[in-house]
Amino acid sequence: MYNIIMDFEKVECAGNLEMGYISNLSGGYISRNTHVFSQIELNDLNKFILEKSVFGTPIFKLGHGGNRILILSGIHGNELPSQIANIRLLNELADKKLNNTLFFIPFAAPKATMENKRFFNTLDLNRAAHIDNSLSNLIIQKIEELGICFVGDFHSTAFNSNPGFESIFSTKSPTAESFLIANYISRDIDCRIIALDSAGESYNGAVEDVCNVKGIPAITGEVLSPFASVGVGSVERSLIQMKSFLSYFGI
Ligand SMILES: [Zn+2]
Repeated sequence: MYNIIMDFEKVECAGNLEMGYISNLSGGYISRNTHVFSQIELNDLNKFILEKSVFGTPIFKLGHGGNRILILSGIHGNELPSQIANIRLLNELADKKLNNTLFFIPFAAPKATMENKRFFNTLDLNRAAHIDNSLSNLIIQKIEELGICFVGDFHSTAFNSNPGFESIFSTKSPTAESFLIANYISRDIDCRIIALDSAGESYNGAVEDVCNVKGIPAITGEVLSPFASVGVGSVERSLIQMKSFLSYFGI
């Protein structure tokens, strides 16, 4: 079993955009998930993204210079608002002139999104980022290979689950800027901050924690929505979180 990791190539339907793959073993038909598909405008760019997601996990690149920042979603396939918000953000920024380098992974595991399941092939990707060559570990590897210096990982949470309310997770050690970013977002958009003292202290393998341990400041955004469904206003809140995260860097 091996992965073909492509270099970035120009996307023809969107002049400034480039695309590569994280893995070619994770593809799925996003259109089978009607909760997601019904919320995605079928323009040329989005059709392209959905087509490419059949063959694996695409990563998109926009802009040059400045900070290298990743907007990640779909680590849990049944957390839908952030995946839709990521597509909307990419569409909004695709024709803008950017002085930073933005990377987007809207569907970390298209197969899990297609199946509307939290797990990808029985694996919780947010407990597996430290396991060699798991799909979330391949994302970590790509983050390091591309020299990405900040990561926002966007999820959703349901009532009576953990945390069960809109929030931004961060840690103070070893990467203090994780906390600074989360503090900025929580004040900017009026949502709660969850600040742990040390990355990885409560469990292993969260994408955010593994990044923070490697010295790459990362935060996790959570919006309130039922799992496997799209709560009213949840896509908009997730988009607001993403934009606030970018505004920390002056974008
Ligand atoms: Zn999640």
